[in-house]
Amino acid sequence: MNKWVYFFGNGKAEGDGQMSALLGGKGANLAEMSSIGLPVPPGFTITTDVCKYYYSNNASYPVDLQEQVEENIKKIDNATGMKLGDPNNPLLLSIRSGAAVSMPGMMDTVLNLGLNDVIVEGLVKKHGNAKFAWDCYRRFIQMYATVVMAVDAGVFEDAFEIRKDVVGVSDDSHLSAQDLKKLVHDYKSLLKEKVGKSFPQDPTQQIWKGISAIVKSWHNPRAQVYRKLHGHKEDAGTAVNIQTMVFGNMGEDCATGVAFTRNPSTGEDVFYGEFLINAQGEDIVAGIRTPQQLTVSENQKRTSDRPSMEESMPETFEQLCKIRRVLESHYADMQDIEFTIQQGKLYILQTRSGKRTAHAAIKIAHDMAHEQLISEEEAILRIDPNSLDQILHPVLDSKAKKNVLAKGLPASPGAATGKVVFCPNEAEDLSKEGIKTILVRIETSPEDIKGMSASEGIVTTRGGMTSHAAVVARGMGRPCVSGASNLQVSYKDGSISVGEKKILKGDFLTIDGSTGEIMLGRVPLTQPQFSEEFSQLMQWADRHRTLKVRTNADTPIDAKISRNFGAEGIGLCRTEHMFFAEDRIAIMRQMILSVGVRERRQALEKILQMQRQDFEKIFLEMQGLPVTVRLLDPPLHEFLPKSEEEYSQLASTMDGIGVDVLKKRSHALHEFNPMLGCRGCRLLTIYPEICEVQARAILEATIKVRQKTGSSVLCEIMIPLVSLDTELKTLAHSIQKIEKDIQKATGETPSYTIGTMIELPRAALCADKIAETADFFSFGTNDLTQTTYGISRDDASRFLTQYEKHGLLDEDPFQTLDSEAVGELIKIAIERGKRTRKDIKLGICGEHGGDPRSIMFFHAAGLHYVSCSPFRVPVARLAAAHAALKVIK
Ligand code: PEP
Ligand code: MG
Repeated sequence: MNKWVYFFGNGKAEGDGQMSALLGGKGANLAEMSSIGLPVPPGFTITTDVCKYYYSNNASYPVDLQEQVEENIKKIDNATGMKLGDPNNPLLLSIRSGAAVSMPGMMDTVLNLGLNDVIVEGLVKKHGNAKFAWDCYRRFIQMYATVVMAVDAGVFEDAFEIRKDVVGVSDDSHLSAQDLKKLVHDYKSLLKEKVGKSFPQDPTQQIWKGISAIVKSWHNPRAQVYRKLHGHKEDAGTAVNIQTMVFGNMGEDCATGVAFTRNPSTGEDVFYGEFLINAQGEDIVAGIRTPQQLTVSENQKRTSDRPSMEESMPETFEQLCKIRRVLESHYADMQDIEFTIQQGKLYILQTRSGKRTAHAAIKIAHDMAHEQLISEEEAILRIDPNSLDQILHPVLDSKAKKNVLAKGLPASPGAATGKVVFCPNEAEDLSKEGIKTILVRIETSPEDIKGMSASEGIVTTRGGMTSHAAVVARGMGRPCVSGASNLQVSYKDGSISVGEKKILKGDFLTIDGSTGEIMLGRVPLTQPQFSEEFSQLMQWADRHRTLKVRTNADTPIDAKISRNFGAEGIGLCRTEHMFFAEDRIAIMRQMILSVGVRERRQALEKILQMQRQDFEKIFLEMQGLPVTVRLLDPPLHEFLPKSEEEYSQLASTMDGIGVDVLKKRSHALHEFNPMLGCRGCRLLTIYPEICEVQARAILEATIKVRQKTGSSVLCEIMIPLVSLDTELKTLAHSIQKIEKDIQKATGETPSYTIGTMIELPRAALCADKIAETADFFSFGTNDLTQTTYGISRDDASRFLTQYEKHGLLDEDPFQTLDSEAVGELIKIAIERGKRTRKDIKLGICGEHGGDPRSIMFFHAAGLHYVSCSPFRVPVARLAAAHAALKVIK
């Protein structure tokens, strides 16, 4: 017989914390907490295998599931002394989803299950508390109807607000037992009206329908979007946790709360959380009432006038603090816990590794390594290299003037500026046009996540630090200010009012998710400073990695930024990028559109002056580190004039050459497929004077810098787009000729090496021949991907997104290296190149050089370095350490 159900409770459990694939994260941790003696209400977990079975067997369940569930309900009855369906001593249950990876709020939950018209009266009698019993029943009907019977939650929310208006109260908790009883009546009538059915009265039927609803919620649209966004597997399935209800809504000595064992925003080692007196768990997450703080110190920071839990429930707070430490040392990680206090007794309903900002992740990993809770290696592996993007987020320029409109909670750090939108779809649409937005919502729900991800920053007027908006924004690395209750948002008018001020859709706002400030207009932003903890972690990472990390930089400024980020050289300086500036493009155009060597040499002479200075500055900036300068590789169309104005401007700079002549020349250069046309070494071979001039500029600059600094420049000249060994030989020869000229003229010998990019399949396959001339190979994985697939880099997104959508491709091969084919070519090139030159230097400078998963491949393939854009350098350093540590593991 298959075991589909695992029991936990009373200090024991059939499962454990290692079983999250089978029991889901929540189920595995409930089992683990129960085993280590924490106060967990008894319950059981239906495995993820049942969900998988359901989806692969025509929406049916295993035959022996019913028997196992019934047996386990009896076990709960025995453990609690209550009984499901017994009006005199009713057992109420919660049913919650729980996948192996946390998907907060994406699937469903039903609380207070087991109530009906008779049992509610029994509950009134048992506790002598009619208000509590009717509150549970109205909550149950709303949740069950929404989750199981697919009635829109808004129907009940409206009825609730109407009832509050009729009674004349603004706070939910001020409704009396009678009011709540009337509300139950209202809800039941509404249900009848909406679905033509009465509320089901049989607790067993409620359970089975509840289980089904949770299993089905695995495939609801928001869960699917979430999985896609986070790259989680579609076929993992959810477990179903059925657990004894404990009640935070029985009175003033009851509460419900959420806590993080360390601050999830900053990573500080302080207990951090929120609670609500006389409430059930969903009230906190939904942001219906603004919660109170756990600790006195957090209260002081917020200048809150409501007491913290530390003050109002000191004994229970003390107990919670002890559990905080037990959980942290048991799991050796920061935990996010849910708890309920029922008449002074504390229960833990959930623990999981807490979601945190990248700032917090770094501080926590660093501190825990110092506290010897985890090793240095583990600390490195705890930081997702991609998450470093978050700490590279801009912050407000401290010198900038700011007009603070309002203040909310600092829910997710970083500053952002953009146009106000109220609708998540609009944020998505505008981001496609490259327009930055700030998404302003009363509160967010899981349906909004795509729009949240498309916006630059998020503001909500309701909800605390653990509200949906706060949790999701932190996970995404979007700056967020939550609970900005001074803002009056009208979706209908498309406006925000703050006192007399009115902000309309399309106006600019700036937010600071680290302070909670919301500012009018566009406040200038600056790049962030790095914490000591970050620097230390990066040092640890550097100690463990074997791959060097260089950068792709074309200007001295980029070179400087990347050096600050820890780049160990320049792996690609694209010389054509030096000519995109407005004052230089004309010279480039003159050169391209010249006829005859004389004309071209005239333009090139000007280029020589400029390039010599460019290279000098870059070499000076990168002193002591290698710099790979690539000779010209422009797809011609990028440089040709387009508009009439550009033609006449250019004509005015070229003696005696009219617009018509230029147009003719340009037309003659027209290529059907410029990406596969006369670029790279082909251009240099056809017009050897370009190669000569560039080589001269580079080599003379190396001599200048050596004279200035006294030390040699580590210069590598790189020839692009080689497919024939003869192309490389010819150009190398031409560079060596220039070297000799310089030597003769100056008496100085420039120091440099010559290498090539491997970016065409032919080059990879003939790497042994090419290595006869090349001192180094640098893989140009952008072109290598383009030419391996035969997919144009420029047009790929049009159909690759469809491929990904329809499951033809798992990921964009221009982002993450296709290790199957492009990777195979790289391996072949390495093997053949080394056959000719054992110590050939190997690097990669395509965009994949900054992609953590591709870096795993490059490490394993035995490259010496990766090169990526300046802002990816820290990401690559960490990813390279992960690659080294994971291979060792
Ligand atoms: C490449 O092709 O990977 C490369 C780095 O060169 P570019 O992107 O300039 O073609
Ligand atoms: Mg290329």
